[in-house]
Amino acid sequence: LFAGPADFYAAAQVLDRLPPMEGVEIAFAGRSNVGKSSLINALTGRNTLARTSHTPGRTQQLNFFRIGERLSLVDMPGYGYAAVEKAKVEAWTRLIHSYLKGRANLARVFMLIDARHGFKSIDTDVLDGLDKAAVSYQVVLTKGDSLKKGEVASRIAGIEAGLAKRPAAYPQVILTSSRDDSGVPDLRAAIAKLVVE
Ligand code: GDP
Repeated sequence: LFAGPADFYAAAQVLDRLPPMEGVEIAFAGRSNVGKSSLINALTGRNTLARTSHTPGRTQQLNFFRIGERLSLVDMPGYGYAAVEKAKVEAWTRLIHSYLKGRANLARVFMLIDARHGFKSIDTDVLDGLDKAAVSYQVVLTKGDSLKKGEVASRIAGIEAGLAKRPAAYPQVILTSSRDDSGVPDLRAAIAKLVVE
């Protein structure tokens, strides 16, 4: 699935510019700086797919990438950047909510959480929104290399316990690092399973 090229094919800042629903779509969301661009690059084996340096407050958009024949990957704008003005945050929220609600071919949102920090309150706000909209999501921990070996099991157990009460959450957490590529094959396998289903 990930052997071939991954091509950027659309960007949307407004809903009437979304590309048509084709095949299976998966989306990646997370706080600014969570390591989303790095993980998308590690996942697709491309170094330039998602930008790893951002201009804070720059226009936020949904970026669509095609992976193989039947899969689209959607890079959602990072949330929680304090300096973004209120009007932009509202526009962001509107875009995201309408995208998530109207996208019948969206199989799963991968919610990226920094393994060092766990859930921040803005993350749980976003999860509340996904639960409410009944959008299926799975938590992917990023920067796993920054945890000590002895911290891994309890961090994962804590996150999974928090997810147990959430109706739209997939119960299993994937621990990844784009620095050493650990967990990236697990994430690929989870995605491949969605395409087959
Ligand atoms: P984004 O804003 O979510 O797209 O995050 P980036 O991919 O741009 O990464 C934000 C920062 O986290 C950068 O300084 C990266 O070098 C760092 N980072 C990203 N992935 C990892 C990782 O797997 N391990 C560690 N230790 N740092 C990472």
